[in-house]
Order: sequence, then C-alpha cells, then structure tokens
Amino acid sequence: MRTSRISVGVCAVAAIVAAASVLVAAPAAAATERPAKSPLAVGYGGVVASVDEDASAAGVEVLRAGGNAVDAAVAVAAALGVTEPYSAGIGGGGYFVYYDARTHRVSTVDGRETAPFTASDKLFVENGKPLPFPDAVTSGLSVGTPGTPALWQNVLDRWGSIGLADALRPAERVAAHGFVVDQTFRQQTADNADRFAAFPATRDLFMPGGQPPAVGSVLRNPDLARTYQMMGSQGVGAFYRGQLASDIVDTVQHPPVDPASTRMVRPGKLSTTDLLAYHAVSREPTQISYRGLDVYGMPPSSSGGTTVGEALNILENTDLAHASQTQYLHHYLEASRIAFADRNRWVGDPAYNVVPTRQLLSQRFADSRACLISDSSTLTSPVAPGDPLRPRDCASAGVAAPTPYEGQNTTNLTVADKWGDIVEYTLTIEQTGGSGIVVPGRGFLLNNELTDFSFTPVTPGVPDPNLPGPGKRPRSSISPTIVLRDGQPYLAVGSPGGATIITTVLQVLTERLDRGLPLVDAIAAPRASQRNATASEAEPAFLASPERARLEALGQTFTLNPEIGAATGVERLPDGRWLAAAETVRRGGGSAMVVTPAGHTPVEGVPTVGSHSG
Ligand code: GLU
Repeated sequence: MRTSRISVGVCAVAAIVAAASVLVAAPAAAATERPAKSPLAVGYGGVVASVDEDASAAGVEVLRAGGNAVDAAVAVAAALGVTEPYSAGIGGGGYFVYYDARTHRVSTVDGRETAPFTASDKLFVENGKPLPFPDAVTSGLSVGTPGTPALWQNVLDRWGSIGLADALRPAERVAAHGFVVDQTFRQQTADNADRFAAFPATRDLFMPGGQPPAVGSVLRNPDLARTYQMMGSQGVGAFYRGQLASDIVDTVQHPPVDPASTRMVRPGKLSTTDLLAYHAVSREPTQISYRGLDVYGMPPSSSGGTTVGEALNILENTDLAHASQTQYLHHYLEASRIAFADRNRWVGDPAYNVVPTRQLLSQRFADSRACLISDSSTLTSPVAPGDPLRPRDCASAGVAAPTPYEGQNTTNLTVADKWGDIVEYTLTIEQTGGSGIVVPGRGFLLNNELTDFSFTPVTPGVPDPNLPGPGKRPRSSISPTIVLRDGQPYLAVGSPGGATIITTVLQVLTERLDRGLPLVDAIAAPRASQRNATASEAEPAFLASPERARLEALGQTFTLNPEIGAATGVERLPDGRWLAAAETVRRGGGSAMVVTPAGHTPVEGVPTVGSHSG
C-alpha cells in the first residue's frame, strides 16, 4: 500500500448495523438524501463516473478526503455491490485497468471467477447433452470462485493509500442506511421475481413482503453491511477462509431452495480448497497504436483488449474522420464482425490455451483481415477466422463459427484523481441477478459466471479455447480501456453488456476519436453491435435513423436490441480539467461527479447532453 494520504470520515455504522435486524421497504421520507444525478461533470480534484449516484458519491467522498483513484474505485465498486447488487458484488469478479501517473505505466488485474478444481470440460453436459441455458444460470454449477474481494485487496496493497476498511466504509453506510429504489432496480427485481422467490434468502432480501420493492422505497442490506465490516476489520482472508467461506461453499453445494418450490436447482462443486487457492492475477495490458494514440486494454482471460484492439487496427486502414456517416458505420460493423471471428477461435484462459495475444494485435494481421472489407457490400457471417500466426491477405483459416450467446449485464466505473491516475474497472456477477442465490445471512448474490464457458465445442471438430476446465477462467468480453496521448492520460472508457461490451467500447472510441463527438455524446449515441452474426443488433434509435436504410443498401441487416451497454468514461481536457461522462438515458441515466466543479461549457470538446432515445 502507498503511504496513507487520508483518513476517511467514519460514521457510527456499527451501531446502525447492529440495530437493523429486519429488512424493510420504508417510505422515501426515511431515506438519506440522494446526491443529484448528472451524466456530465467537469472540474478539478478528480472525477468519478458510474451508473449510480450513491456509488459515485462514495468515490468522490474518498477523493475529497485525499484518497487516490484506486482507493476511490474500490469504494465505488463496494457501493455498487449495495445499490447494483444484481450486476456486481463480492460474489462475482471483474477486470481492473490502471494508469499510474508516477510511473506512467498501465497495469491490469484479472479478478475473474474460476471454475472449481473438480470441473471438467463436461461441466454443463448432462446425459450427453448441453444443459438448457436457464437451468445452468440458476444453479450451483455456474458459480465460480469469486474474484472481486481478492482484486480489491490486490489493488489497494499495490497502489492504494488506504486500507480495505476505509475503502468499504461509505458502502457499509449505504448498506446500513439503505438506498432509494429506482425504476431500473424495481424492474430488474420484477424480471427475476420467479427465481428469486425460490430462495428464501434472496426473496427476503430483495422482495421484502414478497413483492419487488416500490420505486421510492428504501432498501437496506444490514447483512452486507456486516459482511463489509468483517472484511474491513479482518482483511480479505475472512472471505476466502473461515466461516464465510464455509457458508459460500455450503450454499453452492446445497442451494438453499424453499422446500415449497418446485424449481430444480442443481448443486455445484465449489469447495473451500477453491476459495483458499483463489488469487487475482496481474497481467501486462494489451497495447496498440491507433491514430498516434496508445490504446491499452484487458488481455486474456478477457477477450476485450484483443478484440477492441484488432478492430481498431483494422479500422486504421480507413479514414473514418472524413468518411460519410454510412461508410463510418459500415466499416465499424465489418471490423467488429471480423474481429469476433478471430476472438471466438483464438481467445480463452491463457493458462489453459496458447492464446496468440501479440499476433492478434499486430498491424500486419489486422491489415490481412481489413482486406476482406468492401465499401459497397457486406461480408456473410459467420466469417471464418484468420490465422494470426501466419497472416495472409484476405485469407481465412479454419471453419466459420457463430458467436455463442452471452448475457448483457454487469456494471462499469471510471475514476481519475488529481495526481492524474486513472482506473477503468468493470465488475460483474454475469446475468442480471447472477445465479439468483444469496448466501444466507451474508447479503450478497453468487455469480453465474461459469455460463460464459462454451457448454460444448461451438463447432464440432474445431478447437474451442473456451471449454470449462479445472480452475479455469471463462472467457470474458470485459473491455476497460485507457488511451494515452504522448504518454499522458487522455481518455478512458468501459461498459457492461456481455459480448456487446466490446462493440460498445469500440463504437464510443471511434465516435470520440474519429468522428469528434464529445465524450458524453459518444456515450449517448444510438448503438449497433455486430458480432459475426448475419444481423447486427441495434437499438430503437439506431433503427429509426436514416442510416439504417443506407446500411441495408450495402447489405447490412439489423435486429432489435432494446438497450446496448451502459458506458462510463473520463477525459483529460487540454486545460487540465477532468471531464467525467455517463449515460444520459440507458439504465435510467448514469452519474458523473467531480470533486471541484469548474464549468460545464468550457473548452472545445464539452458538449450539450445528447438525445439518445433508445
Ligand atoms: N460475463 C460477461 C463477461 O465477462 C459480463 C457480464 C455481462 O455484461 O453480461 O463478458
């Protein structure tokens, strides 16, 4: 840990937690004041962007007290575990990308969940057949060893200036006092009500009175406040060893289903050995050069860095800044189509596969793939992968295979501090609501991250780097990205959204870097996502735009996806101020905050808020 710069303000959380033994949905009048919500903030002293105002406020509180971006990022993440418990929390995992202003280095930490050591490549095969996806989601089988607590401890030890207890304190307070339920939370609860009802621990926590909580009511989570308090006082070992670890294992091996429920919930084999053995892994970031900028991302076990990087390298062959809007979008979709073909064939957990990360990111390989793209027609998907080890112009190698289904959930946060450090961090429990199983008495949901594995080989006879294996990390699409200009911080962006994370980050980057949209407008712009399928998914606002017909004339086809991604980002303005940006509309709008506000209509590049309506 770095020398402590701060002591975060303490409140009497312990007393509140001890007193709050019953979960209630109280009227809004009982709630603490919610901080104001804005998708854009500009100023000095550090910035935070997340989907939630309580979480962003937790980060700003830490920055204000003198903490750095890493301290604040853990505080924001812990608060998201309270207010966005269906997307992220200590029962899940994530990926952390960090720019250190002292060393000018970008580092990454892989906090991905791991399969139990007893898992085989047949983890999700029953009677010779792949399990139906929903059965796998709501089961003990899909629960991987959580990586989020280990990641928090890892990053605080290396770059933080405060300990875990201080970083968790604002979140502990939100869990103890409660947060105001918004429409998104209520809807997510309602969407999961059937399966949540099967688990008394989940039902009692998230559906007090047996129903999804009303918008404006206050939801408290004293169990989670206690869990955070324990981790703060005893260290992260208290999660991976001892009674909490036993409780997690017991919950996975004997899912606590209501005896009155008819739901069949398969147990998993997660063991105390798996928890004891877990460690977050430091990895060299991916790096490519794009239009003279250095773009850093998350390497495997995520496919984010290689796929965003390869697509950008392909796009570098086209002058997107001067292309028509139609040609820009056409090239964006085609580059993504091709990069997904290569991702699906080559990327998996590098501890179990030889992943040609460097070769996938070489400009030579990208050029050999860019040559497939035509200005006047569209490639037919599935496009076959190329061979990054032996790139040949316009050549494909191997059999074309479709992209497997992945959920679209998760949450992302971005923090920058007054020293110039940046954190881009995406964390998840996979599906909205994860496995649906709360560890009784502990206040958090377990992930279903192992459903990110291929259940069986995607194409028979073709090597699939993403089959389950003992201790293996399932391939992710998480793409936290940091861009440097002349070695100095410039831009950072990340998003939730399963495999659409990659396309969202790619679209935001190109909208900002090539098309010149201000960051908040680049984030708000209607999205389309092409992942080596015949049709690209597109939001309603994209489908309603005149570009749709122009792209269809080139052979592109579209299918509706009501909402793609929920990005956050930061930008360093030329005068030294930070700009933080979040969604204007998606997921009810995000929350950007700054320590010391300094103008909303400053230098070139700061926008009026966009008008996304998808
Ligand atoms: N499990 C997904 C991944 O790691 C993230 C979850 C989501 O966004 O749906 O790629």
